[in-house]
Amino acid sequence: MFTYCTGGIKCEKASAYLLEKGFTNVYQLHGGIIKYGLEEGGEDFDGSCYVFDNRVATLVNSINPEVISKCHVCDSLSNHMVNCANPECNEHLAICPTCLQEMDGACSQSCKEHPRKRPYNEKGYYSKQSVGYSPELGFKSFGRNLKIEKRKIN
Ligand SMILES: [Zn+2]
Ligand SMILES: [Zn+2]
Repeated sequence: MFTYCTGGIKCEKASAYLLEKGFTNVYQLHGGIIKYGLEEGGEDFDGSCYVFDNRVATLVNSINPEVISKCHVCDSLSNHMVNCANPECNEHLAICPTCLQEMDGACSQSCKEHPRKRPYNEKGYYSKQSVGYSPELGFKSFGRNLKIEKRKIN
């Protein structure tokens, strides 16, 4: 059995769990898939590695990279991950830059015409104006928002 993850921490836990449950022949990719790609080129990795921060879709294969996901609107190959500009939909999917322009950041015609649709911000993700995680700033946003909150209180 072979486990791998983005940074080599989650699969460390998963491997330990599998061994504890009695599995033998458990292997893991030390350092994670990103490090593997940087060091080995990632030749046999198709597609992009999805990560839960502002990098979103990260390249692993620098030798013969291949996009395998398709644009939700036009079906052409695209790994451009965005959130639909309609906050009531907010679907997270691949939409190519051309379609994003045409659809004004929305995933469908009904979302494009939705009364609450956010203005398309050229990025395709919309950070909250409240305390908490911001995909734009990553985990740095926690500290920053706390400082802002402190200032407001004082
Ligand atoms: Zn498209
Ligand atoms: Zn939508």
